[in-house]
Amino acid sequence: MDFSKELITWYRNNKRDLPWRDTNDAYLIWLSEIILQQTRVEQGMPYFYKFSDIFPTVKRFSEASEDQILSLWQGLGYYSRGRNMLKTAKKVMTDFNGVFPTTYIDLITLTGIGEYTAAAISSFSSNEAKAVVDGNVYRLLARYFGISIPINSTAGKKKFQVVANDLLNIKNAGEHNQAMIEFGAIQCKPKKPNCEICPFITSCYAYQHQKINELPVKLNKLKIRERYFYFVVIINNQHELLIKRRDNSDIWAGLYDLPSIEFTENTELPELLNHPEFNKWFKKTTSINAVSPQIKHILTHQRIYARFIEINEVDENIVNANDGIWVKLDQLHNYGMPKLIFAFLQKIHKLN
Ligand code: SF4
Repeated sequence: MDFSKELITWYRNNKRDLPWRDTNDAYLIWLSEIILQQTRVEQGMPYFYKFSDIFPTVKRFSEASEDQILSLWQGLGYYSRGRNMLKTAKKVMTDFNGVFPTTYIDLITLTGIGEYTAAAISSFSSNEAKAVVDGNVYRLLARYFGISIPINSTAGKKKFQVVANDLLNIKNAGEHNQAMIEFGAIQCKPKKPNCEICPFITSCYAYQHQKINELPVKLNKLKIRERYFYFVVIINNQHELLIKRRDNSDIWAGLYDLPSIEFTENTELPELLNHPEFNKWFKKTTSINAVSPQIKHILTHQRIYARFIEINEVDENIVNANDGIWVKLDQLHNYGMPKLIFAFLQKIHKLN
């Protein structure tokens, strides 16, 4: 059986209509690929429309400020992607005369573009014969060929790349790669793959050996870190909120958040109120208007447990703002904030 031929036939009959598939513009493909990293298609789609609308060209993207990119990126997570995109757009303007590169060898030199993304952009935009291997492709290959080497081990990564290269249809690399990814995404899904209507049912190792739920194999390397935060919502009598910029050494790097104190375990309010850090923000005792219930927020490697303390209509003169800035509540959308914090403020203050 010609695997690629069968696969492409399936793809032409079953593919979803996605906006980045209607183009061979490497800039738009790059936008979609970075947005879709660690992100579901349904979640990424509105961001793709927003970014391609506001920045129809790499030149327009390169002229944006980091704050503008981060505020547009809000809610998508992994904010380093947005910052890296700005670096890359600027480099395309200076080093590639404003023309987004389409070859693997050029793409791999750009910030935020790894082997997978370089292979995807070069094959989708110019049909370069580079096989892509993402989570969807790992799953399909592991099941179809019965490969049980862990996909996140060094040996596994090498093995799967070799198998993907061997399968690649070099005359139609772009469509073959799109088809591999789409097949893994909607046919050979992680749970309950559609085996009964699969063109590979008679030759698929996992189906024939009842190993679908055992493949692919992944080493469980992740240790989830639990973090407990109190965020303090300080609003002055001008209806301005005190926000501050996070540094680049932790989650939400470069975004704006609220004054906060982190604990390593669940901590009751009196402990916060007696904490020296908390008292440093105020020149005299201040009354608290409300305390939120604990909100759980899940990141890939971390669990955040957050509570918000609200202090309203405080006299600005008694607050030690330090490096914070006061921002009108209706202007908050201009500042990139972690989704957890913006969603809380949006709900409490009915922001747009
Ligand atoms: S038969 Fe099932 S497990 Fe095998 S490739 Fe098809 S969908 Fe995936």
